[in-house]
Amino acid sequence: MLEQKINEFFGDGESTGFGTGWWSGILSAFFGFLSFGGVLCLHFPRLLSSPELRPHYPMHTLRVLIQCLIVGAILFGVISSILRKKKILALTGMLLAIAATALGGSSVPINETPHGGLAIGLDWLLLDLFLMGLIYVPLERLWPQYPKQGTFRSQWTLDVVYFMSTHLPLQILSFLVLLPATQATKYLGVPVLQQLIARMPWLLQFFLAIVVADVAEYFIHLALHKVPFLWRFHAVHHSSKALDWIAGSRSHFVDDTLVRGFILVPLMLGFSQSIILAYLIFVTLHATWTHCNFGPNAKWLEKFLVMPRYHHWHHTSQKEAIDRNFAIHFPWIDRIFGTYYYPDEWPESYGLAGEEISPNFLGQTIEPFTKRKRTP
Ligand SMILES: [Zn+2]
Ligand SMILES: [Zn+2]
Repeated sequence: MLEQKINEFFGDGESTGFGTGWWSGILSAFFGFLSFGGVLCLHFPRLLSSPELRPHYPMHTLRVLIQCLIVGAILFGVISSILRKKKILALTGMLLAIAATALGGSSVPINETPHGGLAIGLDWLLLDLFLMGLIYVPLERLWPQYPKQGTFRSQWTLDVVYFMSTHLPLQILSFLVLLPATQATKYLGVPVLQQLIARMPWLLQFFLAIVVADVAEYFIHLALHKVPFLWRFHAVHHSSKALDWIAGSRSHFVDDTLVRGFILVPLMLGFSQSIILAYLIFVTLHATWTHCNFGPNAKWLEKFLVMPRYHHWHHTSQKEAIDRNFAIHFPWIDRIFGTYYYPDEWPESYGLAGEEISPNFLGQTIEPFTKRKRTP
């Protein structure tokens, strides 16, 4: 298996704690990969950057960031190679950073006229991976609920592939979601409602948008569980046996498209673009966070806002919590509809109960279209 090969190639039997050269090696390889990818985006913006994001980039900041990543990759590479016997990680990071520099580094001029044609969202992949990794990996390492579950736990490569599959074809995916949504809004848009909402304070609009989105999400999520044909697609998301920030990426594209479409249509009926954009940022951060291997809990907050432990109960394979906790932002939505389940402890097991699905990306992508119904 590829994952085992990667683990063997980069890993070793030594401790992976702080100060052993493990994390500096990981950071070196990670920064090296990001900087190399970033320089490629500068060279081929038409092919490798998303037309939706391009016009909004603060180019000077991004160039500084690429430069910092190159320096970081080299620095951490040196630290890791001093501390650790096996130097593959450090070497990989430093080589990628050197290659990025040899290709022109952060000062590559943009020569192409960056419009037209189908593009790959490498820019979005790199940026989101950088931000999410920066926010969530430290949280999971510092305050894990399951300390024995490492960052590179079983099936981590599968979830990286899923992460790539939802980022690289950004253009196609957003087209799939946006086209029906804009069509629907064209015919269903209610100007009176839009004006009414626009008059509210920004924060109230934002809060209302989250409520509307979560109620819409509740019903499509319920359908994904209860309609056997839809469950086949959603079962992929529930197949993770260990949850962490990137496990949340494991989702069939049909599942993703349905959910996003269902959320976007009611939002587009009444809310302004800035509110929708703010919601999209919020949902990315919050939904990722609820999958995190993160132990701390705020008692006063968890009745109101979905915390990791709440969504973990949605992912359990334990009978008592099957088909519970469909909301992704507000637990009280589940209370209203009678699907709330929230005991004081954490679940003991995760994944599909009594059901097997293909262990690889291609199988999981094709199988739902061809396979049998859910076995209870
Ligand atoms: Zn679910
Ligand atoms: Zn989930």
